[in-house]
Amino acid sequence: MNAVELIERKRDGQRLTDEEIRWLIQAYTDGTVTDYQMSAMAMAIFFNGLDPEELSAWTGAMLNSGEVLDLSDVDKPKIDKHSTGGVGDKVSIPLAPLVASCGVAVPMMSGRGLGHTGGTLDKLESIPGFTAQLDPQTFHDILGRVGVVMAGQSETLVPADRKLYALRDASGTVPSIPLIASSIMSKKLAEDLDGLVLDVKVGEGAFMPDMERARQLAETMIGIGKSHGLAVTALITDMSQPLGRMVGNANEIAESIDVLAGEGPEDLVEITVGLAVEMLTLAGIDDPEQTVARALSSGAALEKFEEMVEAQGGDPRVVSDRTLLPSAPETTPIEAESGGYVAECDARSIGLAAMRLGAGRERKEDDIDPGVGIEVRKKIGDQVSPGDVLAVLRHRPGDISEAMARASSAWVISEQPTKRPQLIHERIEA
Ligand code: URA
Repeated sequence: MNAVELIERKRDGQRLTDEEIRWLIQAYTDGTVTDYQMSAMAMAIFFNGLDPEELSAWTGAMLNSGEVLDLSDVDKPKIDKHSTGGVGDKVSIPLAPLVASCGVAVPMMSGRGLGHTGGTLDKLESIPGFTAQLDPQTFHDILGRVGVVMAGQSETLVPADRKLYALRDASGTVPSIPLIASSIMSKKLAEDLDGLVLDVKVGEGAFMPDMERARQLAETMIGIGKSHGLAVTALITDMSQPLGRMVGNANEIAESIDVLAGEGPEDLVEITVGLAVEMLTLAGIDDPEQTVARALSSGAALEKFEEMVEAQGGDPRVVSDRTLLPSAPETTPIEAESGGYVAECDARSIGLAAMRLGAGRERKEDDIDPGVGIEVRKKIGDQVSPGDVLAVLRHRPGDISEAMARASSAWVISEQPTKRPQLIHERIEA
């Protein structure tokens, strides 16, 4: 086969056959098709898309570019959740042990933070001793023993995506729905799951700024799941403002523990519980709402978190002693200049400000500081008086003027009362 011919066909809006797609992905993975050719193909797909059949073949070819986990000896339903990412989105951290404490196996592979959004692995690694880099055997063993494991993507899974994602990042082709959907779903299909719940974030702090694109992404991923025999449910949830109150790393762990202890902020609890119910539903567990409520009130979910932390080398005493989590020594408040009602609390600005403080990465190779972050005190709908604290920045000594300026620009105060945004916009299933 000839890469140039395939690129020209896609450029001209024609379709590719299953065989051609399989060849292309394989030849790209082994280096026969070059980066510049794949980059042209990614751009052709950006403009002309992939139809459902092409997309199924594309995802299958990506999936088969590497190893696929075999978790068939785990005798519980295996369900994962994937979020398209946002600011303060620490949901996976309380969710995975909560669901595991209800009798479901949760083999969760997560990512690191980049740009204004944080990453679950970075947050977990702020627990002293915790390791998120596990070899496949250890991953498997912990899942079998504890029922939940949270780790980074193994190098051997979907190598085609590793290459292609870096290429898309460097060629302006990341925001293509078929390329995003196949990238996410190929990695999830490699986890040998029985079901997947998607949390598709919509709003200024998310990948998908509007409902139409968020819905399109959710439906595309559900379609891929269907064509590969994986049951997928999606919730489209709000990311116009940060989720919960904490943005950073160690502070997000503390807030996640609050959720498991029954003391979390309302929005974070609502989304965690909503996603847990969807995961239990896919697992075929009876009365999922009651089961989730019991796991929280009995302390079983919190115990499962401690068990998971210990199994992954972390210090489980963080649950009862938050001073074991890293914390930067200085705090600076942002105060309201006028009174009224919070109309905007822009997630992207707050995420970027946290990144400037050191909580996130500008480039993949940057280190993060787990002890810095932002505590958001006033959110959309809240009433404020002049001088009220809108947020508190936790930081290292030194100049934080850039982070302050970024963060301060997040709030818009209106004279008219404002309403809290709806959190769960839509539920979509196959
Ligand atoms: N996350 C992924 O894994 N892939 C994408 O393309 C976008 C987000």
